[in-house]
Amino acid sequence: MYAPAVPQNDACRQAAELLRAARRVVVLTGAGISTESGIPDFRSPGGLWSRYDPSKLTFDRFRANLETRKLYWQIACQSYPLMRDALPNAAHEAFVAIERAGRLLALVTQNVDGLHQKAGSSPERTIEIHGTAMGVVCIDCGQRADREAIHRQVLAGDEDPVCDACGGPLKPATISFGQAMPERETAAAFRAAAECDLMIVAGSSLVVYPAAGLPEEAVRAGARLVIVNREPTGHDALASVVVHGSAGESMRRIVAEAGIAPAGAVYDA
Ligand code: NAD
Ligand code: ZN
Repeated sequence: MYAPAVPQNDACRQAAELLRAARRVVVLTGAGISTESGIPDFRSPGGLWSRYDPSKLTFDRFRANLETRKLYWQIACQSYPLMRDALPNAAHEAFVAIERAGRLLALVTQNVDGLHQKAGSSPERTIEIHGTAMGVVCIDCGQRADREAIHRQVLAGDEDPVCDACGGPLKPATISFGQAMPERETAAAFRAAAECDLMIVAGSSLVVYPAAGLPEEAVRAGARLVIVNREPTGHDALASVVVHGSAGESMRRIVAEAGIAPAGAVYDA
């Protein structure tokens, strides 16, 4: 089944044929689909995350250590405005088009930037398995807080913001290293993977589990797999088609060649 490196045009055409035939598409996206919106992925040299050692920013340390919480919020205050102000790109729009064409079972994302929803993907079909940086949550009682308000509070000098209800530490509503995956979202993602007839993975290195287990589950259950990435991934050997290239341009071409109407930009630029 493994498609060796074929020219980009051919790979897009093959992916488009699979999409044209598919009725229950599940999409899995990673940080790579948002780099064209100006949000660096983990690996980009100089990217925000590459300047810190993630093993020092685990969930347990966040809970136990004031200095970790202060550092975490400092980093979060740098990355949040980048995500808040970013605009979706052609890749996000391609997935909206697939949904509007009635072919999308679920869009599973490892991203925390909210760009799928900003592009017009419906919240009912979007599964954020690593949470969202657009919200804040109390790690003791689970109460939610407004991200923009807490962001301003931290910028104004409150280095360790706490929950109104119980006084517990507030944290961006993302899943940190060492933190349990959200059960409902993870279960829904695996259910969708087992039910799809085509999975498209775009911009994920497929090295982080359980997300990397989703294409394994889809293929095991009989679905075809398309991987779009500018580099090889951990699961290229499972794929029917591997498209090497920019997620935005590749997805735009795949959706157009499959005869699916573009969604267009629906957000306020
Ligand atoms: P990753 O950083 O491990 O891998 C990103 C992948 O995308 C790489 O394989 C890279 O080659 C590819 N890529 C980068 N730009 C691309 C482009 N324009 N076109 C095609 N491919 C491109 O990302 P990951 O596997 O998603 O794991 C990192 C985790 O970090 C995520 O699970 C997420 O929770 C978090 N994160 C989120 C964001 C975000 O929300 N935008 C950004 C950074 C990190
Ligand atoms: Zn609380």
